[in-house]
Amino acid sequence: MRIITDERCAGYSSYGHPENPRRVTATIAHLKQQLELPLTWAAPGEVSDEQILRAHSPELLARLKIPEDFDGDTPYHENIANHARASVAAALDALKAARNGENVFSLMRPPGHHATRNQAMGFCYLNNVAIAALEAVATGAQRVAVFDFDVHHGNGTEAILLNQPPAAFFSVHLHPFYPGTGGANVGRNCFNYPITPDAPRATYRAILARALDDLKNYQPDLIAVSAGFDAYLRDPLGGGILEVEDFHWLGRSLRGFGVPMFSVLEGGYSRDLPGLIFAYLKGVEGLPYQSEAAVEK
Ligand SMILES: [Zn+2]
Repeated sequence: MRIITDERCAGYSSYGHPENPRRVTATIAHLKQQLELPLTWAAPGEVSDEQILRAHSPELLARLKIPEDFDGDTPYHENIANHARASVAAALDALKAARNGENVFSLMRPPGHHATRNQAMGFCYLNNVAIAALEAVATGAQRVAVFDFDVHHGNGTEAILLNQPPAAFFSVHLHPFYPGTGGANVGRNCFNYPITPDAPRATYRAILARALDDLKNYQPDLIAVSAGFDAYLRDPLGGGILEVEDFHWLGRSLRGFGVPMFSVLEGGYSRDLPGLIFAYLKGVEGLPYQSEAAVEK
């Protein structure tokens, strides 16, 4: 398992903001002290404007350098354009590693799936997974699928990939919930699986399973995963109800498709995030789930 990360992504924060540096630094520490899952570590390379501009407008790239907040929960930070570009670069490196047959996870911030073509929003500045999906298409992929299990709808990814064959988008999320979109399928290639916020865990799992079946029937030749861990029971923002082992099951299920796959970190704000990511990675690697080792107390 290759982990693409760079501790410099911990170099920005706003006091009290849930999308904080500890999400990544605590996960790095957790992964470095465990012995079950052999890891190789890599830092992200570079991304060109050309690669970003397949998904975003030049106006958004320019806007990222203007020191004004983007919305109430998406602050401007010094150097945020460079932080966002490093997160994109990590997703692109993850794509390359997946094509080389490696299991790979991009452990970076900021997340990306709410960023639309023209707008930074919802803690997201550039859409890492959409840029990587369009890079895959531009470099020969025939059927790319983005699978998004963050508890929030990946509105930005949907808006960017809408009716852009040969890519498809599958998102499982609470609805109605932030950002308000994702209540139904859109266009020819965006498939939404809304779950009512009071649904029990069994329902959430069943809808995830249905989305995975549809993903399989799409017959992707490459899967990009927006891995958000905020559907977790104790997530302070998510209000979801998944258990740690459900993330292991997600990883194992996606592994089961047997096609190149890479995952990028989206949301996930509980203090258990390192254990949730670890459980998911063990699933992707084909290792068994062991709850004692997977939950960081
Ligand atoms: Zn989220």
